Amino acid sequence: MKAIRFAETGGPEVLRFEEIDLPAPSAGEIRVRHTAIGINYIDTYHRSGLYPLKLPSGIGMEAAGVVESVGPGVTDLKPGDRIAYGNGPIGAYAESANLVAARVVKLPEGVSDDIGASIMLKGLTAEYLLRRTYPLKAGETILFHAAAGGVGQIACQWAKALGATVIGTVGSDAKIETAKANGCDHVIVSSREDIAARVKEITGGAGVPVVYDGVGKDTWEASIKALKLRGLFASFGNASGPVPPFSPALLSPKSLYMTRPGLMAYVGTTEELRDAAAALFAVIASGAVKVAAPTVYQLADAATAHRDLEARKTTGSLILRP
Ligand code: NDP
Repeated sequence: MKAIRFAETGGPEVLRFEEIDLPAPSAGEIRVRHTAIGINYIDTYHRSGLYPLKLPSGIGMEAAGVVESVGPGVTDLKPGDRIAYGNGPIGAYAESANLVAARVVKLPEGVSDDIGASIMLKGLTAEYLLRRTYPLKAGETILFHAAAGGVGQIACQWAKALGATVIGTVGSDAKIETAKANGCDHVIVSSREDIAARVKEITGGAGVPVVYDGVGKDTWEASIKALKLRGLFASFGNASGPVPPFSPALLSPKSLYMTRPGLMAYVGTTEELRDAAAALFAVIASGAVKVAAPTVYQLADAATAHRDLEARKTTGSLILRP
């Protein structure tokens, strides 16, 4: 089968479209033919070496597809079932994969394969951030960076549905309408506005109880400034580069909290994964979160997709078509 692999870290050009063998599924595994493969910012960290992998390696953590065969001991899935996954194993940029049956979820009828591949990593991230990292309550105001992005579009709609007032940031004026259409009550254009000052203005000087920050290097200081007393800085990504080391004393004037959460710590057990996916499918089924059709690239063109994502040209979810 064909797969994208890389043998050295670097820019998108290190991604190679190769022919590789896939063995039969082992005990507890299923073999899945991918129909849509999710692209996530974390894939660029793996490719660049920010998050080191043993090389050569496959790449990608999210896909949807059809079960082709099951290994010994698998009883709850059968050939023909539609499934999706968003937490690896690394190597989703491929025509097929062998997966641990307990780590995938069946896609409900109302969720297409393309949407399944668009929401399993990003939507489950929105789930834990809003419901478990900082359980958001109706009437609260939040700041969410990269509101027009993949995680951002789902999270901002979900936050709005929970009754929050949502302040979102975007990098350019062209993304304002997208952010507004996806749950943002207020949109701050980070390239030309002072984020913390605008948050203070919007909140009548108080600041927000939580900032969800997937941008990192370029926004972390504004995030801390935008928080109110005892607020939570939820630093969940590094799209602009990692947050540099800083002294905890910086949190002291406002007695702030900080967390650096990751999806695996929230969906590590099968029960957590199933519960989180059920919550995600429920907000989609109710219409509270509407997931736009993703932008589609051919599997062989994964490098182009990475270039567009890193150049901040994209909004919403991107998928690869095998
Ligand atoms: P996005 O679609 O949100 O793409 C990233 C966005 O970040 C860009 O579109 C851009 O939006 C913004 N951005 C700001 N500064 C830069 C910069 N210098 N270079 C590139 N982009 C920049 O990606 P995802 O939805 O896949 O992921 C969003 C974030 O969430 C990432 O940081 C990712 O690592 C993180 N994440 C973390 C998880 C976790 O569990 N910890 C799980 C899933 C994702 P704009 O131009 O509008 O500013």
